[in-house]
Amino acid sequence: MSLRVIPLGGLGEIGLNSMLFDDGESALLVDAGLMFPDDTMLGIDFVIPDYGVLRETAGRLAGLLLTHGHEDHIGAVSFLLKDFDIPVHGTPLTLGLLRRRLAEHGLDGVARLVPIGRADRFRVGAFDVESFPVCHSIPDGVGYILRCADGVFVHTGDFKIDERPPDGVPTAIGRLARLAAEEPVTALFSDSTNVEREGYSLPEAFVGEALSEVFETAPGRVVVAMFSSNIHRIQAVLDTAARYGRRVALVGRSMVGNVATALEIGCMKLPKPDILLPVEEAEKLPPAQVAVLTTGSQGEPLSALTLMALGEHKYIKIREGDTAVLSSKFIPGNERAIANVINNLFLAGADVLYEKISEVHVSGHASREELKVMIRTVRPRYFIPIHGEMRHLIRHGKLARELGVSRAEIAADGEILEFSRGELTRAGNAPVGRLFVDGKGVGDVEGLVLKDRYHLSQDGLVMVVLALSSGSGEILYGPDIVTRGVVTENGSESLLEGARETALKVWEEASPEARKDHAEIKTDIRKAMRRFFNKRLERKPVIIPVLLEL
Ligand SMILES: [Zn+2]
Ligand SMILES: [Zn+2]
Repeated sequence: MSLRVIPLGGLGEIGLNSMLFDDGESALLVDAGLMFPDDTMLGIDFVIPDYGVLRETAGRLAGLLLTHGHEDHIGAVSFLLKDFDIPVHGTPLTLGLLRRRLAEHGLDGVARLVPIGRADRFRVGAFDVESFPVCHSIPDGVGYILRCADGVFVHTGDFKIDERPPDGVPTAIGRLARLAAEEPVTALFSDSTNVEREGYSLPEAFVGEALSEVFETAPGRVVVAMFSSNIHRIQAVLDTAARYGRRVALVGRSMVGNVATALEIGCMKLPKPDILLPVEEAEKLPPAQVAVLTTGSQGEPLSALTLMALGEHKYIKIREGDTAVLSSKFIPGNERAIANVINNLFLAGADVLYEKISEVHVSGHASREELKVMIRTVRPRYFIPIHGEMRHLIRHGKLARELGVSRAEIAADGEILEFSRGELTRAGNAPVGRLFVDGKGVGDVEGLVLKDRYHLSQDGLVMVVLALSSGSGEILYGPDIVTRGVVTENGSESLLEGARETALKVWEEASPEARKDHAEIKTDIRKAMRRFFNKRLERKPVIIPVLLEL
């Protein structure tokens, strides 16, 4: 028997984190995350791993281990559980955040959620599993030590090494050092997200200090936008507001929901019983006694922050004297949207602070010096970088080699890493894939649909509508030309007339048989129209002939 480790996502992209450990007798998954779409995935809400590959292991799949409550680690759990009813192990906050996601899919109360501690030891199938605490931009994070007949494996999850952790619990470097001394580690799977950053990441406590300064000096209201999962930072905002005599209005469904979950679990405490201010009362207090905590730090067009900046939010409209703080990173792909919201905040009269000009955000991922500490502490036989695009994985692999770990192996999604008595061999590829989720559809939007969407977004759409008599087959109405995203219909009359004539000519020149065969006549209309628009506009709109029999 041997242990097969198969990354189902997260090795070659940011997000989609999910890794299978299968020793032939039992199997477990670490994380089941989603990925947010890039610019080419038009209209896609998010991407999840294709768990079809697990069917082979279904009988022995014994559980899912969650490292922390970020969407890129728990966002695909609801989809996974629909096909595989397995127990889900996680710390209380991780499971609390997951429960809200499961409820949206009607799976709360059905899913088997197993709470674990941050330094716990339990069994999942044949695996001996030990959790250890890690610091990250969300509380209650863990990594895992997995023991089985073929070795000892360490999975860091997402981590940083914070010298001043907000909850007082540091990343378990001491525990890992003892492990390395007692039971040599076969392989270390380590977070590569910030391998391009030199030095050390700043402690989360810095943000609290930067916020203090803002809260002390801001003349009017302070509006802080951030990710609603960053519970420690929400706590810092509440504490700071309390210190400077402000009450805090929470805005955004996930902000309100996550604060409720965190209070319930006990990983957040209200500094004063009346610190929270109902948002509809925010206008009743003097501005210097008000803070607003909201989502929308990525410039999402319908988010509360965007609406506030545009003066379209029901309760909070940004005005002269307000200070807005964007306390999160600029996620690649969102820069334009974030710049828009910053511009609109300035235009509305606010002073705006963001990552580039102030320490109102620090990263939750380890920089190079911290990554080195992890590698030197664990001293694994094999080093496998995870959580990153290829350039991150390769750079992280090089870093490990520089530190004397000669067996640093770069793997991509789907590559089978087979460990047998501590030795690694590469055993080909598993058929892994991704599914696009768009609204209620999972996996029904594929490459062809995306190609159409791309095409539509670039060149627009032309519909040719022709109504025919079902008896005689003569034209009753049309051809009528309807365009979207091609030309404005006013002022393009001669072009549209030309298009109409082109379609009519196809009809007139068609044989009586062809006129009865709608498929054939549609193909002819499509070809002629394509030629027409290419010649007149050098564009290739999507052409849709519609033939109606009346
Ligand atoms: Zn994370
Ligand atoms: Zn992550």
